[in-house]
Amino acid sequence: MRLPIYLDYAATTPVDPRIAALLGRHLTLEGIFGNPSSTTHVFGRQAAQAIETARRQVADLLNADPREIIWTSGATEANNLALAGVMRAQARRGRHLITSKTEHKAVLDVCQRLGQNGCTVTYLDPNPDSRISLERLAGALRPDTVLVSLMHVNNETGVIHDLAAIGALAREHGVLFHVDAAQSAGKLPIDLQKLPVDLLSLSAHKLYGPKGIGALYVRQRPVRVRLEPLLYGGGQERGLRAGTLPTHQIVAMGEALRIAGEEMDAEQARVRFLRDRLWQAFAALEAVELNGHPQDNVAGIFNVSFMGVAAEAVLAALPEIAVSTGSACTSATNELSHVLRAMGVDRLRARAAIRFSLGRFTTVEEVDYTASAVIKAVNRLRELSPLWENQRTS
Ligand SMILES: *Cc1c(COP(=O)(O)O)cnc(C)c1O
Repeated sequence: MRLPIYLDYAATTPVDPRIAALLGRHLTLEGIFGNPSSTTHVFGRQAAQAIETARRQVADLLNADPREIIWTSGATEANNLALAGVMRAQARRGRHLITSKTEHKAVLDVCQRLGQNGCTVTYLDPNPDSRISLERLAGALRPDTVLVSLMHVNNETGVIHDLAAIGALAREHGVLFHVDAAQSAGKLPIDLQKLPVDLLSLSAHKLYGPKGIGALYVRQRPVRVRLEPLLYGGGQERGLRAGTLPTHQIVAMGEALRIAGEEMDAEQARVRFLRDRLWQAFAALEAVELNGHPQDNVAGIFNVSFMGVAAEAVLAALPEIAVSTGSACTSATNELSHVLRAMGVDRLRARAAIRFSLGRFTTVEEVDYTASAVIKAVNRLRELSPLWENQRTS
């Protein structure tokens, strides 16, 4: 077993070696390196063809049409394009949009900006399990609501939203529905022929592809969703996203999604087994709380509070295990997780929360090592902690 152990798959994943090899074949003179917009020669035409194959691979995973896929630099850009693009293009229909307090910053920060520029944003409070209730959403809809944006799987708790029910409610009111699916694509089935979803964001690096590439699905049928582009330039992607397409990144993303589609069921079952094994091991400790929903979760994300010990203390005691306190983006700023706080988790429990995220290359040995190392560290820290003594005796 190799140390340190990587258990932060929700922050990013290592590139699958099969995909790394493919990346390399789309860079050099011997490979497919041409500018896909160069239609006058074979180099460009080969690149364009490789990109269209990848576009079909992405569309196939979602049961969508390849013409509904727009390449972006990642889920952050896809979210920006979906939210700002729709609100700007459809300002005459209304300027109200609905999202939730548990979204990724790549949605929340766009909403905040739109709010400073004439839009009104409703931020829904989640249930204690981090899901949005349909009643609350229904109560927030207004005649001038244009868009609802909710994530499929939460990146901190792993909790799953019911896209069919939320989308049906949005559609009933003539409101567009955007989904940030960065944590769910390739892990849960997504069928856009059936689901009433209008826009959906994807990222390759959460799925064993490279960083810096993603896509936005934009529904074309029965009604074409109108968007205003964020970037202007060469008119690529039907004018919606200018810039020379990165052939190597796109081919790698296509292959990442193809592999994910093929291996999803077996992989999720394996990851679920590892997660359950870790959770059962933690049950040897007292006062361990699961943050999220016990069943409706994606297998790879697992958020627990070891009561009485601060998460940073556990992480500092275990430098050989790579996990995170909340999302990677907020751990840099050292704030308490906005997701856990919105769920109503109290400050002590939020400070004790650790996110374990498992994936394709996680092994039983790594899980067993992690379980015993964490249990040892938590027991030792609790012995030293006056906080824990107080909690136990109160
Ligand atoms: C990682 C992530 C993003 C950001 O994706 P990038 O491709 O890194 O821009 C957005 N939303 C969620 C839910 C994520 O997990």
